[in-house]
Parts: sequence; structure tokens; C-alpha cells
Amino acid sequence: MGYDGAMKSSPSKVFPAALLAAAALVLPMSPVSAPAHAQAGGKPLPSIARVGSELNMFIELHNHLLFASRADEDALPEYRSAVKAYRDAKELAKDPAVMQTVTDACIAGPDITAIGSTVTRLPATMSPADQEAVRKMIGAIVSAWPRFERTEGPEHRRSLQTIWSRVMLKHWGLVQDRLLTKLYEKFAFLPLDKSITLYPVLETTELGVSGSTAQGYYAVIPVMKAPNLMIIEEMLHEVTHVIDQYQPPASQSVLIRIRRRAGHVDPQALNSFMHGLITWNAGELVRRLVSADYKPLIDVSSPMREPLAPYLANYEGPWAGYLEDKLTADQAIDGMLAGLKPAPPPAASPAAPGS
Ligand SMILES: [Zn+2]
Repeated sequence: MGYDGAMKSSPSKVFPAALLAAAALVLPMSPVSAPAHAQAGGKPLPSIARVGSELNMFIELHNHLLFASRADEDALPEYRSAVKAYRDAKELAKDPAVMQTVTDACIAGPDITAIGSTVTRLPATMSPADQEAVRKMIGAIVSAWPRFERTEGPEHRRSLQTIWSRVMLKHWGLVQDRLLTKLYEKFAFLPLDKSITLYPVLETTELGVSGSTAQGYYAVIPVMKAPNLMIIEEMLHEVTHVIDQYQPPASQSVLIRIRRRAGHVDPQALNSFMHGLITWNAGELVRRLVSADYKPLIDVSSPMREPLAPYLANYEGPWAGYLEDKLTADQAIDGMLAGLKPAPPPAASPAAPGS
């Protein structure tokens, strides 16, 4: 298994869940009845902030084709033409809106006919090549669907169903209140206007895909072979991205305040640092609030830890101090930003002689 898909995704959206599988080999499964370290004094979670999950076989097929389109030429011979359409589409597509449109269509459904009709209402602002890429992928899903539904689909559904009911419904149901209460409190998030639904898929492709449909916000989570608590960490991680991305305009969340105060910071370093904060925090909240024995993903996966290594002191110092109520949010923000690499000075303009 490779990480190429993860590497190509935008850094703020990448969750290297390919690593989950590797980490799963060295970690015991955590029991559902992990000891609770419920925190005191948190406000009750508004019901719209609760995060649900659903199975969606259209997004599973889309993910399956995407996965095959990155593998060897004949990885999925029975879907050869659909996989080729995905490869061609990825060549054509210039805008992330292409993949977003296809993912949104699969999530919104509600059936294969409705998904197929997406291509009749593409925005005029989308370039012809991007429109063609959407048509190729949607066309591939529509043509592959009958076969998938008849052959591999039921097996995929059984595997997903097991993880979904055991982890995403049962285990998450036991721990989401304490995790989300702390998440909202510490990041000073405002509740969103619509709820979030998570969709598991088996294979690891473009990761942490999220978006918004008329029904609400969503995120797609690869779950194969990961132990329970890693899936819980991954869920919390992706939920953090979605809450951050769709904060109401009035929000003064900690992440918004960090971005506002980080004018002096190198933008690429800021991106890595922000993503690292979401990653580190998700693992740490699972460890602090669900199971003290839990080893967060960055502790068991060096490819995940490496990009965060320059910032670990920021998380383990100021952010942990803030989680423990030893620092205020502002102190934690200032402490973390002080340790970041400053932006390079603006390059001199070649078109300004004498200046
Ligand atoms: Zn992420």
C-alpha cells in the first residue's frame, strides 16, 4: 500500500489513514468499555453538534474506483472502462471542484439516477475540461453501479457494516459527548447550522474528504483495518476540520484567532502547524478522555509524526497547558505562534528600477 493519494491531496485535508492499517498491526484492539475520564464543568453539547454516521454505497463505489485508478493498470479488470474513465478524468481535472462535485453527488444521492443527473446542472463557471472530468467520473459510477450492486457491493457493505455498527455507532456513541464538549470548549467553536454525518469507506484514497449538501455537512473516513480508538481519533480529527471550515461568521474560534495573528508566519509552516494542531489535539483528547493507554496516531506512525516534529513542542507545551486550564487561550496562541518560522521577507520587485 502506498501513500501517493495522500501526498497529492491538499495538506489541510490529508489524513494519512493508510498509516492506520500499518499501525493496526502493532496495536491491540481497545475495548468498547474503555474507562471514562469525563471532564467536569463542560456545557451540555447542543444536539445539532452531535455527529452521526451512515453507510452510503455510492461513495464506497466512487472510492473503490478512485483507489483502483491509482493502482496497477489492471488492478480491477472487471471495472476496466470505469477505472480508465477515472484516470482520464484525473488528467483533465484542474480544479478541486471536480472531485468535490462528484463526492457531493454521491453523498446527496439519493439514487443512481439522481447521481447521474448531476452532469446536467454543472456550473457554467466550471471550465469545459473540468466539466468533462465530472462527466467521465459520474458516467463511470453510473455504468459500474449495476455490477457493483450485484457482485462486490454486498461484501463491501458487510465489512463496512461491521465497523460502522461496532465503532461509528456504538463506541462513538459512548464517547462523543465528552470528546465534542471538550473540542467545542477548547477551540471556542460555535455550533454549525446543520449537523455533520460521517461516511466510512474501506480503502484509503484521497483522505478526509468533506463537504456540504442540502442535508448537512459530511466527511468521508477510510476505516479498513484500524482499531476502534484510531477510528475514533480519525473521526474526531475530520470533525474538527469540518467544524473549523464551516464556522458561522460570528465565530472567534481559536483557529480563526491563530490565523488572524499569524501574519508574520511563513504560510506553509502555518498550514503544517495548524494541521498538526488538529492532529495532535484529536489524538490527545482520545488519550485524555477515553483511554489513558491509547497511543495517538503520531506516536505509532513516524510518517505521520515527521511533518509535525518541528511543532511538537508547541503542542506539548502551550496547547497542553491550555487543555489543562493552566493557560488561557490567548496565552496558548501567543506561545505557539512565537515558536513558528517567520515568513521570508517580500522579494524585491524586478519591475521597480531604482527602488
Ligand atoms: Zn486532517
